[in-house]
Amino acid sequence: IARNPNEPEFHQAAREVIESIMPYIDENPIYQDEKILERITEPERIVIFRVPWIDDKGNIQVNRGYRIEMNSAIGPYKGGLRFHPTVNLSILKFLAFEQVFKNSLTSLPMGGGKGGSDFDPKGKSDKEVMRFCQSFMTELYRHIGPDTDVPAGDIGVGGREIGYLFGQYKRIVNEFTGVLTGKGLKWGGSLIRPEATGYGNVYFAQEMLKTRGESFKDKIVAVSGSGNVAQYTVEKVNELGGKVVTLSDSDGFIYDPKGIDNEKLKFVMWLKNEKRGRIKEYAEKYGCDYFPAERPWGIKCDIALPSATQNEINGEEARTLVRNGCFCVSEGANMPSTPEAVDVFLNAKILYGPGKAANAGGVATSGLEMSQNSLRMSWTREEVDQRLQQIMINIHETCRKYGTKEDGFINYVDGANIGGFVKVADAMIAQGVV
Ligand code: NDP
Repeated sequence: IARNPNEPEFHQAAREVIESIMPYIDENPIYQDEKILERITEPERIVIFRVPWIDDKGNIQVNRGYRIEMNSAIGPYKGGLRFHPTVNLSILKFLAFEQVFKNSLTSLPMGGGKGGSDFDPKGKSDKEVMRFCQSFMTELYRHIGPDTDVPAGDIGVGGREIGYLFGQYKRIVNEFTGVLTGKGLKWGGSLIRPEATGYGNVYFAQEMLKTRGESFKDKIVAVSGSGNVAQYTVEKVNELGGKVVTLSDSDGFIYDPKGIDNEKLKFVMWLKNEKRGRIKEYAEKYGCDYFPAERPWGIKCDIALPSATQNEINGEEARTLVRNGCFCVSEGANMPSTPEAVDVFLNAKILYGPGKAANAGGVATSGLEMSQNSLRMSWTREEVDQRLQQIMINIHETCRKYGTKEDGFINYVDGANIGGFVKVADAMIAQGVV
């Protein structure tokens, strides 16, 4: 804490991991002797840089850019870029730290990293976003590369931003390589990548449900967010026969008891991805309730799939969910539940899938995009989807292996943390004190 002041999100993420792997480390003192915890919590490298750009009115704007290169023990740094006004060092370090364990769980050879900027794409024209991305990449390019560090999207960074970033990288380096994932299909992208995090989370939840003889069929599902992850979560839940009744954005949430069917989902995709509007317009169009400045966790549901941002379910909201009969929470977002909320879920012994396991499908499919780029081949939709599904099944199995308690309860937090840790820690030991 003395070395990392003012970093509450990073402390929160690190504390959770350390608390859950401590008993395992006590049983395996080599990790203590090798000072793995001290090393794994210290980023290998952090780059912080100025991003100046010119807005449409001709004014100079200045933002701050970051790239956290957290751990490369098992592969090149890999993790998304977030463009959001709340971005700071603490948030990116928490995300980079989580990414190390998540990437390890996918079983693909990827280290962990994360980056981004306090730039807010909301309300900016396409040309402004392009000029910002070009300026951002003009510094970032010297720190990344297909065998060094491969960024991707996250909040505020979708297909449009990846396109502008890739174009500038290619222009500077004069190489067409798989330096970013989430690329467009016609220029090196992978089928299923846009869908992967949402689909993957639903596949993971499905595996958890199976352990209790349950499925998505006829279940009421609360989803938060309305961006990339939320949209494809709804699509997959609909396919499996569940009914999604909520979506949200940073202004509030909508409650549609009739369910957000595929027709309505098409509207959400247009609204958020093309018009770049607000979720309240859904309520205006379909005549359902809109709750400004609130989150959807007071709505009665069987399954909750938080897919917006960190710390979006607090202890009180977790208690409300459990009281209302919610028996499965699977995290599309990163660290959406506060530590108090996590305790509520674990004490109630509901099915609780933490983000680093449940939302790993996004980065896993990014890994598959890297493989296709290296092979200079494109796999079919079915092939990528099948691999994604198998990876989520394997992650679930790893969590079960390391997280099953004496009474049979699967603590997926312990399972994901220990399962993700072992591979990285062993690789660090094998590579010496570096
Ligand atoms: P998008 O930018 O596409 O969507 C984010 C959504 O969350 C928007 O609806 C946004 O609302 C809402 N949101 C963002 N910040 C806040 C906030 N502070 N309070 C309330 N709502 C907020 O991002 P993604 O869908 O890609 O990411 C969502 C979550 O999933 C993040 O936690 C991300 O780290 C995680 N994730 C994403 C992966 C991916 O592949 N994209 C992979 C793994 C995890 P608004 O429109 O108002 O900003």
